[in-house]
Amino acid sequence: MSDRAHHVTAPLTYRSPKTEVKPSPIQGLGLFAKATIARGAIVAVKGGYVLTRAQWATLTTELGPAEIEIAGDLVIAPVRQEERAGAMLYTNHSCEPNIAIQGQIVLVTMRDVAAGEELTHDWATTDDGDYTMTCRCGSARCRGTITGKDWQRADLQKKDRGWFRWFLQRKIDAAQR
Ligand SMILES: [Zn+2]
Repeated sequence: MSDRAHHVTAPLTYRSPKTEVKPSPIQGLGLFAKATIARGAIVAVKGGYVLTRAQWATLTTELGPAEIEIAGDLVIAPVRQEERAGAMLYTNHSCEPNIAIQGQIVLVTMRDVAAGEELTHDWATTDDGDYTMTCRCGSARCRGTITGKDWQRADLQKKDRGWFRWFLQRKIDAAQR
């Protein structure tokens, strides 16, 4: 048997066949439902290499933002330019999202989603960063400005309990002890 028979070519990140990546009215490219997707369905799973921040720092100049934080000093990211597009989630932020993170890398629908809807998650539930951004999500509940520290907001910690990335929930719990 040749080694070739065992070689699988797949993108690093899984995206459901019911989704597609296309230009978004919110920003750049977004992830969209191209069919009806039921509540609780897995729409994407972030993949890549587990790297230390020091390793990622040597790659980020070339690759740009493509990583997610796992915990402490570790991220999941692509390491080659040709892997980058296949490693991206493309999920824009919304203050009224229809998908959310479960655990560290799995994104699920929070409600039934209609074909054509953009799949968005609240970045407060996944990010611990240093950015400040004007939000163009268009939701009636739009916060106007979002930051990489929104996970520290008491209102969001309460509203989104159960929807935070594991390492953020761990920080929230530690701060409350
Ligand atoms: Zn918004």
